[in-house]
Amino acid sequence: MEDNNVFSYETELLISGAYTHNPVSHPEAMPIYLTTAFNVRDLDDLEERYKQKGFCYNRNRNPNRTALIELMTNLENGEDSIICSSGMAAIFTAIMTVVESGDHILADKTLYGETIEIFTDILNKYNIKTTFVDFTNLDELTAAIRPNTKLFYTETIGNPMITVVDVDAIANLAHLHNAYMIVDNTFMTSAAFKPLEHGADLVVNSLTKFANGHSDAVCGSVTGKIELIKKAYHLQILTGCTADSFTSWLVQRGMRTLYLRLNKQMENAKNLAEALEKSPYVLKVRYPSLKSHKQNELAKRLFKDKFGAMLTIELIDDRRKMNMFMRKLKLAHYAMTLGGIRTTLSYPVLSSHSNMPESERLKMGITNGTLRISVGIENSDDLINDFLQALTVYE
Ligand code: PLP
Repeated sequence: MEDNNVFSYETELLISGAYTHNPVSHPEAMPIYLTTAFNVRDLDDLEERYKQKGFCYNRNRNPNRTALIELMTNLENGEDSIICSSGMAAIFTAIMTVVESGDHILADKTLYGETIEIFTDILNKYNIKTTFVDFTNLDELTAAIRPNTKLFYTETIGNPMITVVDVDAIANLAHLHNAYMIVDNTFMTSAAFKPLEHGADLVVNSLTKFANGHSDAVCGSVTGKIELIKKAYHLQILTGCTADSFTSWLVQRGMRTLYLRLNKQMENAKNLAEALEKSPYVLKVRYPSLKSHKQNELAKRLFKDKFGAMLTIELIDDRRKMNMFMRKLKLAHYAMTLGGIRTTLSYPVLSSHSNMPESERLKMGITNGTLRISVGIENSDDLINDFLQALTVYE
């Protein structure tokens, strides 16, 4: 039989089918570019590729990451973005973009636990000191400013007490003192709130959560002005915390339904919060749309009618009953994440705030009966009825 191959078997094994892609085929769905590098024709082509910021090496640039960069930049209304291997990588890169040794940081005291540890366990060692302040108290915040304060760091909605901060006022304060403001928008996403439009210099997102929404990818983003993102990109390339092609592809696919999902999740969250507030077995419900929420007026001004899909409830301090309640729930399951399509629970005492001394935790209002709920897209009545039937263990 005639051998049609031009090259030997082992060479054909490398090149057959490797160059069949057709750049003018315009596929309807984004293909996954699982390649570490992109070929160039010659040295002129290589230099042109550099100039055009084309694709050369995966860690520097990849079409799937670029697609997600464009998506995040447009959605957060920024000028450019970087896409990182996790929310934590995005947070660390964003912070390191704006601070250097000798600088001082003001950080909200109700942040995600591991973000707090970036300040206390890493930056502290490199002569970057952080003061933790209640960002809902502007007087306390103003009093804590030092001549070397370079960064104000907060989350749109604080975890797990669902506190709301005045992003506009804090951004003004930061800029008045030549400092930057970074906002973690993970709990809200750009579908509900855009911190850059309220004065933030950089917005970070754990795309792992509501943005991707399917609990199957870990990813993060930083978005802001071109000049800051250029610095962040340089850092990211050196530390290598870029999201891989498949993850970037999954997140851009998941995000296509963010608006639909989040609107349903927010509607469900509001309905659930109102129903649980009426239950005699729930001591306290924290959700920004409720009149009983401390920053309800501010939340209405900032978010209009979009209050996110995270809420916290306080039950009586009884571990046995809490276990019975959790086991009786048919829809909401415990999960060490949030923002997925199914309703999930988390217990801050054993997760985000497990390293905090009990007295400090209680001062923050996080009791042993505190449960955080990330609301999914289930039928609203099914969800409410499920919680109400499970609460009967407290009868
Ligand atoms: N920011 C917030 C508000 C979070 O809740 C989390 C994780 O739960 C993160 C950042 C970290 O994100 P990741 O797990 O994607 O690194």
